[in-house]
Amino acid sequence: MAEPFGGVKAGPGGAAVRYGLAAAPGGIAIPGPAPLLSRPNPDGAMPELPEVETVRRGLEPALLGRRIEAVELRRPDLRFPFPERFAERLAGTTVEALRRRAKYILADLSSGEVLVMHLGMTGRFRVEAGRVTDEPGAFYYGAPAAAAHDHVVLRLSDGASVVYNDARRFGFMTLYGRDAIEGTPPFSAMGIEPLGPALSGETLARLFAGRRTPLKAALLDQRLVAGLGNIYVCEALFRARLSPEAPTGSVVTATGRPRAKAHALAAAIREVLEEAVAVGGSTLRDYAQVDGSSGAFQERFRVYAREGEACTTPACRGIVARTVQAGRSSFFCPVCQGDGAGPGIRPRRPAG
Ligand SMILES: [Zn+2]
Repeated sequence: MAEPFGGVKAGPGGAAVRYGLAAAPGGIAIPGPAPLLSRPNPDGAMPELPEVETVRRGLEPALLGRRIEAVELRRPDLRFPFPERFAERLAGTTVEALRRRAKYILADLSSGEVLVMHLGMTGRFRVEAGRVTDEPGAFYYGAPAAAAHDHVVLRLSDGASVVYNDARRFGFMTLYGRDAIEGTPPFSAMGIEPLGPALSGETLARLFAGRRTPLKAALLDQRLVAGLGNIYVCEALFRARLSPEAPTGSVVTATGRPRAKAHALAAAIREVLEEAVAVGGSTLRDYAQVDGSSGAFQERFRVYAREGEACTTPACRGIVARTVQAGRSSFFCPVCQGDGAGPGIRPRRPAG
């Protein structure tokens, strides 16, 4: 059956891909930058760091400096039960800072506690100011967020409300003491923040020295670098011209100094993440930004989900290949990224 405003189709591997025009609240169709997502989503991706940072930036003007007057919980749990007296502990506090650590959004409260928020797979926020819902330029891919999935409402001192909606409820919210948060899991085990000042060739050399695991695995290891996911690791490795299967230690000299590859990798990680944040993250599957609009970084993928397409490097005649490492798809150019450092990947022939 044709769906008037786009819909959901099954991508390879069964991943649902939403596409086409979208229905705005009230049922008016607003064209998105069509087609919204023409590429399959091979891994069923969830919001990664740039998407979470985009949401944080969208929430900041609504929350920063505001007092939470009241909290409405419409169910006892999300992925996990809410902490004891959750609504009472939030009510009456002022949001003093809104930070992000890896894929967690952290609101520092005047009570000394930190409201920890994780979007899971489908979590999204909506800011309602009085009778106007702030969704500038909003369009949705697939169905608009159903009100039935509005689970948490924060009523703020300026009359606005921040609504948390999560259809699949893999997201969660909890409270930590601000003094204890860095020493408490999962934060105590987190690696460096890739958008922070710690990321450098020197830091990567220190973290990666002596490791024989593939680079791809090391970059996905949250204990080393926190918050990097599959998409951005694939893109960063391509830009640094490093094979995802190269041994991690190959970016470090025998004396533990960073090789040029380590500097290139650090620069590529930062570049990819900053570029993605600048355009509002990637739109994949159920993810939406805080204003309900979708990001556009997927239009800039150079290797991710481009299996069988020509490499975008000028004059390179490589074809983007896909391999599977630890259950996740790695996309790469066997020419640009065949740097001789690794055992060499034998890509599968693209289908057809
Ligand atoms: Zn290439």
